[in-house]
Amino acid sequence: MESQSPATLVADLHCDTVLELQGGAAIAHNPEGHVDLPRLKAGRVGLQLFAAFVSASLPEGRAFAEANALLDLMDRACQEHPEALVRARTAEEVERAAGDGKTAAVPAVESGYAIEGDLRNLEALANRGIRAMTLTHARHLPWAASSGEPGDGPGGLTAFGREVVRAMNGLGVLVDVSHVHERTFWDVVRTAKRPFIASHSCAAALCPMERNLTDDQLRAVGGAGGLVGVNFFPAFLDRRYLAKRGASMEALFARHERIERETLDDPARRNAEMRRLAREARAAMGPPEAGVDTLCDHLEHVARLAGEDAVAFGSDFDGVSDLPLGISGCDAFPAILLRLRERGWSDASLRKLAWDNVLRVLRANER
Ligand SMILES: [Zn+2]
Repeated sequence: MESQSPATLVADLHCDTVLELQGGAAIAHNPEGHVDLPRLKAGRVGLQLFAAFVSASLPEGRAFAEANALLDLMDRACQEHPEALVRARTAEEVERAAGDGKTAAVPAVESGYAIEGDLRNLEALANRGIRAMTLTHARHLPWAASSGEPGDGPGGLTAFGREVVRAMNGLGVLVDVSHVHERTFWDVVRTAKRPFIASHSCAAALCPMERNLTDDQLRAVGGAGGLVGVNFFPAFLDRRYLAKRGASMEALFARHERIERETLDDPARRNAEMRRLAREARAAMGPPEAGVDTLCDHLEHVARLAGEDAVAFGSDFDGVSDLPLGISGCDAFPAILLRLRERGWSDASLRKLAWDNVLRVLRANER
């Protein structure tokens, strides 16, 4: 009995699996990636936010079209596998799909670059069903500063950036602060009228890097009724891994961006080269020392600072080059929940983390 995993469904706030699909992988079976249908089922994943990632390497004028092309791929995957994957928009639709034993696929966008500085594009994306958008990725936008490059770009959110946040609130698109600069974060706190999320971020107190959230930020997300989805990437979880990676981090990122630029019209080649880059990085650094317990440390830190109503999963599956030891994909959730129970979490707290918190915030952002 004790060894049985808690019987809760799982919601995950971020994956980049659509890039796998764009590169030619099939969601029915993708052992080289982190997410596929058999493992969604094994992981009891009732809700997955699928991000359409729009790279800043795309020339201006292609970003909005790219977001739509990726969302089309997501739609097609749902059409091809109606027995397992169902497009969902509202919390009610999510519950219906999950109740039928399927995974509710909720589309999202990674990077406000996708709207090309035009609120009409945001509205079009909202009308086709996206429920979340990260304001930035790793580069500054003209209207929002990112944590991913030096300086503070436009200095946080500009007047237009605040308009974007207010429009997202009105359209039922969750404002996602993962990747943003700290100044952008505090501008969101002052501007947002609905609970916002950090879909795939970790705790800076445990692993100090610019993309992770400080304790003050964690408290602010909780205070706003929002969510922090904890990212599974060892470099965000484990300061030893971060230190080992440190020297090569910039070179890796530069190569990453070069691959993106050079493969804009060849996503299959992009995926193959990204895999090779990940293999080389892993070979150079050795396996991560971070394991399931390291991930649990972050979940517990977030629950303590932001509150147990504000903690969630934000795996970043198919978007990261490595995972903690013992985790190879989305079938790992039951083992993670089991480990948390062994560490003293009640079944009620586990259900909040895994499911209830996400459904509540989706509902709080419905039109
Ligand atoms: Zn990301």
